[in-house]
Amino acid sequence: MDYFRRIGQLRRKLTRAGLPGLLVTHLPDLRYLSGFTGSSAALAVTRRTARLFTDGRYTAQAAEEVEAAQVEIVSGQPSIAAVQWLAAQPGLAIAGFDPARTTVAELARWKSELPTRMRRGFLQAAPSPLVEALRCIKDEEELAVMTEAALMGCRLFERILGSLRPGIPEVEVAAELEHQARLLGAEGMSFETIVASGLRSAMPHGRATTEPLPRRGFVTLDFGIILKGYCSDMTRTVFLGKPKPGERKAYQTLLEAQETAVEAVGPGVKCEEVDEAARGVLRREGLAEAFSHSTGHGVGLEIHEPPRVGAGQTTRLMSGMVVTIEPGIYLTGRFGIRIEDMVAVTRTGGQVLTPAPKALIEL
Ligand code: ZN
Ligand code: ZN
Repeated sequence: MDYFRRIGQLRRKLTRAGLPGLLVTHLPDLRYLSGFTGSSAALAVTRRTARLFTDGRYTAQAAEEVEAAQVEIVSGQPSIAAVQWLAAQPGLAIAGFDPARTTVAELARWKSELPTRMRRGFLQAAPSPLVEALRCIKDEEELAVMTEAALMGCRLFERILGSLRPGIPEVEVAAELEHQARLLGAEGMSFETIVASGLRSAMPHGRATTEPLPRRGFVTLDFGIILKGYCSDMTRTVFLGKPKPGERKAYQTLLEAQETAVEAVGPGVKCEEVDEAARGVLRREGLAEAFSHSTGHGVGLEIHEPPRVGAGQTTRLMSGMVVTIEPGIYLTGRFGIRIEDMVAVTRTGGQVLTPAPKALIEL
């Protein structure tokens, strides 16, 4: 990954925002800018220098991972050292921080460690999330890693199908899926694996429980793995036993909604338009009320990133963004269905990164 280029891009954003310096404390932002993967660090960026502060546990790791910033090992809190370093830079009158990633307590602490005359005006909330805006657009290398992560998810789905049998507890399915993920080389899961079967499939975020899989009914699997720091995210819903015509019809409708939304993805398209593409199909079938969440979200170093693909979201998709398309229908007391793909926005449309089959699988 080209960290020098990323820090260069951030500097251009800082100039436009009128900020001569920036304090970065959110770890995924810091990883994006410097490559550092440790759990305790802060990064200070000025127009000329970038300096990463971390503690003694990470001396060797920081030396190995970080090229685009100077590294300073500190004994206290890295963020405080970073603030003090920024304050000591000649001619630097203000430094920005990300208000969405800073607690009131942290800000008070940082200020208390500054010289009295700087406490009032030195630290300023950045007008928009600057690093997040860069992270939205994935470069070639990131897209390659995310494609690999998404394909690993698809292989996992195929492997887990054999374990889906009536009577097996949901947690056992989740455990098997996570075990296989590790065997395939995943660094971890990108969120708590969702296995929601039978009546529980009507819960959009049904965590796996000790409930056994039913003899007949839908089973929703929503899971993701982490590969080289990047998250994958996919959902498939399969059927145990033979579906009734109504269940089959509902699945077909949801699949049509999902595919219509995938088709709608392209550069310049507003997120709300993609959301509406899915919602329109469900509305036509009288299922609008059953779709109770947004159509999707950005994904990358974090499982949920901007943009949000939902109603009222006027952000336009851009080439290099990766979003999920995951409409669902949830009929309490009956069943639920969700299908989710990861889609990369290309220069001409959208490319599905999760090619696992979507036609209804009956087991
Ligand atoms: Zn998901
Ligand atoms: Zn998702």
